[in-house]
Formats: sequence, structure tokens, C-alpha cells
Amino acid sequence: MLLIKNGRVLDPASKTDGALDVLLDGEKIAKTGTALSAPDAEVFDATALVVAPGFIDLHCHLREPGQELSETIETGTRAAARGGFAAVCCMPNTQPVNDNASVTRSIVDRAAAVGTVRVWPIGAASIGSKGEALAEIAAMKDAGIVAVSDDGKPIATARLMRQVMDYCTSLGLPVIDHCEDASLFAGGVMREGPASVRLGLKGIPAQCESICVGRDVEIAQLTGARLHIAHMSTRGSLEYVRAAKKQGLRVTCEVTPHHFTLTDEHVRYNTNYKMNPPLASREDRDALIEGLADGSIDAIATDHAPHHPASKEVEFDHAPFGITGFETALALGLTELVHKNKLSLMRLVELFTTGPGRVLGIERKIAAGAPADLTIFSTDHAWTFRASESASKSRNTPFDGRAFRGAPMATIVGGRFAFRHSKTAQA
Ligand SMILES: [Zn+2]
Ligand SMILES: [Zn+2]
Repeated sequence: MLLIKNGRVLDPASKTDGALDVLLDGEKIAKTGTALSAPDAEVFDATALVVAPGFIDLHCHLREPGQELSETIETGTRAAARGGFAAVCCMPNTQPVNDNASVTRSIVDRAAAVGTVRVWPIGAASIGSKGEALAEIAAMKDAGIVAVSDDGKPIATARLMRQVMDYCTSLGLPVIDHCEDASLFAGGVMREGPASVRLGLKGIPAQCESICVGRDVEIAQLTGARLHIAHMSTRGSLEYVRAAKKQGLRVTCEVTPHHFTLTDEHVRYNTNYKMNPPLASREDRDALIEGLADGSIDAIATDHAPHHPASKEVEFDHAPFGITGFETALALGLTELVHKNKLSLMRLVELFTTGPGRVLGIERKIAAGAPADLTIFSTDHAWTFRASESASKSRNTPFDGRAFRGAPMATIVGGRFAFRHSKTAQA
């Protein structure tokens, strides 16, 4: 048994915000209350800390199988735990692609053997994510996938999207799309605009994303399926999602910490600023922050995309897209959104817990009988992120050396510590 004493419990599911103790018994929460005592329990003193349901990351790349130089399930989940995530959803663009039950099972088994946090795989929508034939979605669901996506690429055609949606609706799975119009993408490396002109880098217009979001929303209307827009980065995309929600369609979306923090004006000839979708204009970034605050956006997701240093140490045009994200996500949310009064603390917690939970159809709450997954964090702890100290195998982040206010202090998964900040560890 583990007793979390003196914390500020923030539970979006019950709108609880107050001083409560939480008693964990094995895999489940036993009870919550004031001045709880349990003589046999280990006690964690959460004085001045927030106790939230375990965070869920809807979007990451763990690179195993196939790209273990960049990350493994072991190193990736350790980095996730340090970032406060109790569960992460890993995209299927591994080698081989997770497009069949045997790959799904190997990921689930590996995570059970060496993972620090829960790993919920996402299966490919099409075989090899090639955009041609449907993958073995039903068999992958039996093996443990929680959603489908061809992330890295959009689901190639409207016709395939319709098939995937019809299939996933009968299986009760959400369809996650990386929205991009291939013909407009056309070899671009950053957002098209004054900044791309100044840097002389090939631009990708904002409409490259929103055109595909529009297509997907239209097909969601046709099929009634659950559609989730990955790493949404533009105002135009957000308008489509808002309109879809207003119509009562089952459309949700996520935004990454880098897209609510940085803009195309921050891009340097440094490949740690190269990601897809690219950093957007200031107007788009401000629209995303509005959407996070007003409830139009459902989740913050990292799109943690580790790349081995050698692969990023090349010219901007030739570098792969993507940055790491687990260990800076909560700190960016606190520093950039909550402390700047753009978002309430409750809303931020919702974006990491009940919000992504709802996308997957998984309940997240602090109540007797719920899974003993908790994220405990400080809103004020001052620290500086050092990529060299990351638990990830990769170092590709634009946030190396950035000072933060607020940090994860402990991550509890199934009643056990997956991570404990050295400041909180008792002798
Ligand atoms: Zn993507
Ligand atoms: Zn991704």
C-alpha cells in the first residue's frame, strides 16, 4: 500500500481541487479522504505538490522494433515516466511497421518486460502504411491496439479513409490522421512565410494541413466515425474541428508543446527546429492557445520523435523531421500556459488526462476502484532542462538549456513508482 499525503488533488473528472490524501492498494486506488492513515503503507509526502490522474500521451514514437539506435521501449518509457506520463501511445511507423497482430504483440510483450509506463500501441491503417490495402485492424485490436493511424504520412486517399473509418467504427476504434496534402508539401522543410523566405528554406503552406483536415471531417460526417487530428498546428485546421464539434461529429484533436510554444520566427539553421508539421506562424500559435483554453482542443500530445544524433547532424534540408518531447511537455505547459495566465491549472491537467482519455474511450480519475496511476508535480520547482541528462537515447530538442518553472515529481503506474524526482526521494 502507498499513501500519498498532503497533496493538492486535481481531478478533472470530478472537478475536485482540494487537499486530499490518496491511498493506493496494489493496482487500484483504495480511497481518498482527509487525514487518511494506513499503518502498513509507505507514505509519500506530497506537501505543496499537485496530485493528478496519470498523464496519457496520445502520440509518440518509441522506435522499437527497428530503429533502436534512436530509442527503445525501455529508454523511451523511462523518459516518459520522467515527464510524468503513466501511459503512452506509440505510432506504428517502426521497422517493420506495426500493421499486423504479431508486431503489436511483440510491442506489448516488450513493454511488459522492460517498460516503465503503460504502452498502448497504435496500429497502421494500411499495410506498411503505404496507403493501399487495409491493415489487419481487427487482429491488431485483439492484440492490444487502441487506435489506428498511418502517422508519418496522412491516410493516403479519401476512399481509403472511408474504408478505414467504416472498419474502425464497427471495432470501436478512433482513426488518427497526420494531416498533410502531399502535393502541397512538395519537399518543404518549414512553414511557408516571411521566415522561410528570410532563411531561404523551402516552405510548406498552412493549407497543406488544413485541406486534409477538411477532407477528413467531411468523411467523418459521411461515416459517423471517430476522427482524431494529430499534432494540429494551424488556425484553419482548428476552424474545421470547431465546426465539426458544433455539428456533433465525433472529431477530436491534439496539439504539441512545441506548437503552442514556438513559431516559425524561432527557426534557425539548426535541425532541432525541423519537425512536421513545421512550427507555424504567430497567428496560428495564438489560435492554438485559444483553442486549448476554450475546450476546442482535446489533448496535449508530445509527438516525441527521437532521432539518433548522427541523423540530425546534417544540413537542414536533409535532416529527418521531429524532436523529442516527453521530458519537457508538462514544464512547457506550466511555464508557457499556466504561469502566463493563458490556461487554468485544472484545464492543463485535463489536457493531459481526461482529454486524451476521452479520445481513446478510457476513463481517467482519482476515485476508489480506479487504476492506481498518478502524476505528482510541482507548479513552481525551478530547473533547467539539459538534453545530455535525458533518459531518451536521442538529444534532438530545441529546448536544451531552457529554464522552466514546474516539473514532474513522481509518476505512479499501477501503484508503483515509475519515476521519483531526486528531491522527493526519501533516504
Ligand atoms: Zn505525424
Ligand atoms: Zn508522429
